[in-house]
Amino acid sequence: MNIDFNEIPAEGELWGQFAQDFMCNLGFNIHSQLFKTSDDGYDFCVVEQVPCKFNHVPFKWLVSCRHKSPTRLAVKESEEADAIERIIRNKADGFIGFYSTSAVAALLLHLDSLRTNGNIKEYKIIDSKFIESYLTKPGFDLIASRYFPNFALGRQSIHIYQDKYLPISCEHCRKDLLETLYTNNNHGVVVRLRLRKTDPDSPDTITKVYFACKGACDEQLQSKYCHNTSQSTASWISISDLVIPSAFLEHIVVLLNQIGRNGIIYEQEALEKEEYLCRALAQRTLRPAAQGELLRTKKMLLNDKNDK
Ligand SMILES: [Zn+2]
Repeated sequence: MNIDFNEIPAEGELWGQFAQDFMCNLGFNIHSQLFKTSDDGYDFCVVEQVPCKFNHVPFKWLVSCRHKSPTRLAVKESEEADAIERIIRNKADGFIGFYSTSAVAALLLHLDSLRTNGNIKEYKIIDSKFIESYLTKPGFDLIASRYFPNFALGRQSIHIYQDKYLPISCEHCRKDLLETLYTNNNHGVVVRLRLRKTDPDSPDTITKVYFACKGACDEQLQSKYCHNTSQSTASWISISDLVIPSAFLEHIVVLLNQIGRNGIIYEQEALEKEEYLCRALAQRTLRPAAQGELLRTKKMLLNDKNDK
């Protein structure tokens, strides 16, 4: 994947603004504006509600933003030497290091000792690896395109159109092939098994549609589903191809033609899988819908149901 964190300039408070948007997307409430530290870093506070038996207790974190990616250096213990003063000044319960690189071991030991001594209740380092792992998740697409435009360019972000996100899970290992589409080892495929006609008048039948990682997972599933190899054939198409908008459109047109003109029969479960696939792929191929458009779509679906 490899995000270039240098897309955010080293100078100014943009790294801090990114940290605020990122924490907000993670579900934290932003509790303060950015304020500059004595060594040109930026701090802000977030609050999360920790569930107790009968209510929720607010937990306040001090977030220390340090953009060290241009120097490629990890954050040193000496750079957070005054962390405890800043935590006390802001009446925070815990400390979060929000870093574009990582933290050196000595800093982790220092934070560990603050926790052991009861100076802080908890700490967490959000480093470059953690941030990278989140920027391709559903719901983080707007942040990715705002702060890392070159990274977002050419990638189809995930937009949620239904009430919830629809994954395309490998039927063997359950890995989500849509979310991990742009990771190095992702080669998800859609596989269709077709039973050839036995006499000239009977049509071919699609007996099975499944999603799999290319290679070992697919081989396992083939041996599970392909029993009658002389009459059954399999076809493969990459999910990375299907998210190309024009290829996505062609996929739907071909499907309609196969069923309407060529008379290919779909077994019910296989047809439902095709319908699900179109809905799931649309999350990466269509542009984000405005709130008004989503409401209009829901109304149209409701009218369709009432007409039936
Ligand atoms: Zn798999």
